[in-house]
Amino acid sequence: MSAYADRLEALAAEAADRCTGCGMCFEVCPTAREIGLDAGEAKARVAELSALTCDGGPAADGLQKWLNACDGSARCSDACPEGINVRQWVTIAKLKALNAVRPRAVGATNAASRFRHMAQAVRLLASMQLPSETLKKILEPAERRTAEILFYTGCNVLRTPHIVLNVMDILDALQLDFDVVGGTAHCCGVYQFQEADLPTYERMGHRTFQRFGQSGASKVLTWCPTCTKNFDELEKDVEEPFFDLAHISEFLAANLDALKARFVDQPKRRVVIHEHLGIGATVDSIRKLLSAVPNLELVELVQDSGFSYACGGQAAKFKDREQAIHRGLAEGAVAAGADTIVTMYHSCHRALAGAEAAYPLRVVNFTDILAEALGRGGHPDYYRLYKAGGSMDEAVAAARRFLADNGVHVDEASVQSLTADIFNETSLAGSREAFAQAFTALAREQ
Ligand code: SF4
Ligand code: SF4
Repeated sequence: MSAYADRLEALAAEAADRCTGCGMCFEVCPTAREIGLDAGEAKARVAELSALTCDGGPAADGLQKWLNACDGSARCSDACPEGINVRQWVTIAKLKALNAVRPRAVGATNAASRFRHMAQAVRLLASMQLPSETLKKILEPAERRTAEILFYTGCNVLRTPHIVLNVMDILDALQLDFDVVGGTAHCCGVYQFQEADLPTYERMGHRTFQRFGQSGASKVLTWCPTCTKNFDELEKDVEEPFFDLAHISEFLAANLDALKARFVDQPKRRVVIHEHLGIGATVDSIRKLLSAVPNLELVELVQDSGFSYACGGQAAKFKDREQAIHRGLAEGAVAAGADTIVTMYHSCHRALAGAEAAYPLRVVNFTDILAEALGRGGHPDYYRLYKAGGSMDEAVAAARRFLADNGVHVDEASVQSLTADIFNETSLAGSREAFAQAFTALAREQ
């Protein structure tokens, strides 16, 4: 076993050692209830978790169902009276249980295929929406950077790159010395960890984290909730880094006075935040930031915010529940007289961006609002145009220009695969034909 794998084992063993077996973590688990596991058997499930940790796998039946259902909501960690990070424990236990029943090569093949699919979609979507100069800047190796602050994008936000441009605008407005770094060459290794391919994870996610350190930055600001969760629980807890690690929303909330001093007058807006718990103080930070924007009124809605830490990802296993959350949010926002839904993360933005096709609402990311309040921003959200399914003229014209600039060619097969990728997500969306037809025509012309 590698030193890294040893340390993971030690983290899980430490959790098992501190656990009193009270069962409260299992009792509050929303996905355990979603698949019908009985809260009355909480103590038995936690005893199985401890047994797996101390004696090895495979996992008992009930435990395996719990592990498979977990979508990372962290309700368990919040409920634990001993302050145990149960989500982290469950994540490590899941890896151990998989390794006990499946050759690593199977997981490695699955992870490689999931990564390839994601990388292809990210590469195409980023090349359709960003100039090559910006894209190159983001993809440059982390260890070659020299700025005090690294803004780490992760991979998937590059499907909605206006968000990255907004954050760059905001950091610029604060006159900070920062570099932006991301893309699939700096992946957090989530697929490899989930598929229990630890050796490849160590060459990817673990290595990405080490490269941040090699850059000499004193602060790394994350964007993606999955990267934030993984780096926090599978890297920072394994070995304390020399740099501070924080989600961008927390960093901006800590710099609210500097932001407020730069805010300019804004149009009147009534907004609802699409909330997720589970990633540090992100919801509270975003609420604090938006409350300070001139003329913006926050409308509070009761929401199902504890089901998962973000839309998509592992929560996508529960399509019906996700769909109900999205519809309930849009309908609740309209009924409450809101005009805007604000998304926290990129995956939520992708899921909700098409709501405009069915509801009298704008859907924007919190970074759209902040960048505009600083007199910047205004970057076109082409992904929202794709999802809304109306006229694609503006999106196609931009894609034509950016694809040529990036030297990237889209063929009809790529358009088909992108259409499936964009529209098969659990989400609110307009017509998929509008996107498919317009971009197929672009592929034929290239
Ligand atoms: S992280 Fe959420 S879904 Fe996973 S075990 Fe904990 S409460 Fe359940
Ligand atoms: S809530 Fe904490 S102490 Fe109680 S069973 Fe779960 S992990 Fe153990």
